[in-house]
Parts: sequence; C-alpha cells; structure tokens
Amino acid sequence: MRKVTFLGTGNASATKCYNSCFAISQNDETFLVDAGGGNQIINNLKKARISLDSIHNMFISHSHTDHILGAVWIVRFIAMAKLKGTYGEDFYIYGSSRVLDSLRTICKLALPGNNTDFFDNTIVFVPVDHGQEENILGWSFTFFDIRGASTEQYGFSIMFPDGIKLSFFGDEPCKDDLYSYGMNSDYMIHEAFCLYSQRNKYLPYEKHHATVREACENAEKMNVQNLFLIHTEEDNLSDRKQLYTNEAKGFFKGTVYVPDDLDEIIIEPAD
Ligand SMILES: [Zn+2]
Repeated sequence: MRKVTFLGTGNASATKCYNSCFAISQNDETFLVDAGGGNQIINNLKKARISLDSIHNMFISHSHTDHILGAVWIVRFIAMAKLKGTYGEDFYIYGSSRVLDSLRTICKLALPGNNTDFFDNTIVFVPVDHGQEENILGWSFTFFDIRGASTEQYGFSIMFPDGIKLSFFGDEPCKDDLYSYGMNSDYMIHEAFCLYSQRNKYLPYEKHHATVREACENAEKMNVQNLFLIHTEEDNLSDRKQLYTNEAKGFFKGTVYVPDDLDEIIIEPAD
C-alpha cells in the first residue's frame, strides 16, 4: 500500500495544528517532505506510526522556519539512533544547495558534534538543481525551482512505476510556466492560505500565497485528478474541510481533499 500522511497542514505561524509537511510511504520506506518547525515532527511521526528507521530520504523545500527547523530534530533523532546502533543505514537529505547549506549550518550550531560527525559519511546531503531527475525508492523524481518570491524554493513531481503521478509545489502558488511539471498529475499537493472569500481578512497575496480558488484554478488547468490543499490559516480548523471543499467546487472538477494533521490518503491507481 502506498500512502501520503499529512504530518502538518498549517501555515508558517500555525500553532493549533502543525506546520505543513507530509510523508509518502510504501513497503516500510518513507520519503519525508519538509518537517515543520519543531520537535512536534517526532511526536506526529509516532502518532502516524511512521518509525524513524523507515525514513532514509528527506526533502526540504526551502529554508523558512516552518519547513526546515523540524529537519534539525529529524537529523538529531536519526543521529542518536545511529549512536545507539538502531539505525544502521545511510540517510539522504535532498534540497537545493542553499537549503542544504542552511540545514548543515543550523545543525552544526545546534546539535552535538557526535551528531554532525555523521555528515558526509552516513548522513548524506544531495543537492538538486532545476530539472534534475533522481530515482529514489524506485520512484522517478523531477525536482524544479518554483522561483519562490520570498526565498529560493523547490518542488518536485514523482512518477511511480505504475504510472501514477504526484506533484508538489512547496508553499507558493504554481506559476504558469511551471505547469508542465504538474500536468496530468493524479495527485497534486498545493498550498491554499485561506478561502478566496476571506482574502481581505488574511491578505494571502502579499504573503506570496494563493487562496483555495487559485489553487483549484491551477489544478484544473493542469488536468489534475486529486488535489490536496495544505499550508492554511488555522482559524477555520474545525470547519476547514467543509468550507474549503465547498469553495473548491466552483473552480475544480476533480476531487479535493483538505486534510487534517495525521490524515492518511491511499495513493493507488484507479481501477
Ligand atoms: Zn511555509
């Protein structure tokens, strides 16, 4: 079974839910995408029954607090497990060279030396460039620069061996000239800061974010089948699923999911 587990669904300043990050899992292997902003990532992985020793690959989209600081905790816990002898294999961290430099620097400043001694040894940093293809866990990844307005930021698309395509655009809206990376995705993960109807309250555009409406319009233009909306405001948490899904209906013909933290969605070929 292949599934996506949403470990966090909130925006950068969310505290009632965790910052947006997720895991794609199959056959006891997990690809972790961003890690939120703190050690809640460790707890949420536990709650989701994703063991640290199933994680040998992690991607960090950009170096903002709500995406990279949780990665420091992942590195810490994996390094501790290595010291205890309970995590024997290599751990690969993917991201742009700038993001990897940031993570390396923060880890060196904030973690004990016996943790960072694993760097470039069994904790391996793998820089990715725009358009770079990588085979990870038998899945064909294409990484791309989303040309973030606030900082350098990367997304990716995955083609699974059974022809299912999943794409992720980080926490800014997909630009028109990047549509080819998301075109015909069976599953797309796109940010939606708030409802279009509440744009004047949350001012998403000045923060370089989209509303449900623009996320859906993008997905519709890319012929997406299933759209996940994350990285949202947290005032509507109790009604978020319903409010966002309702607004999405007017702009997107496929299926919209507005996951809560720890929701799991099975990603299988349609029958
Ligand atoms: Zn963010």
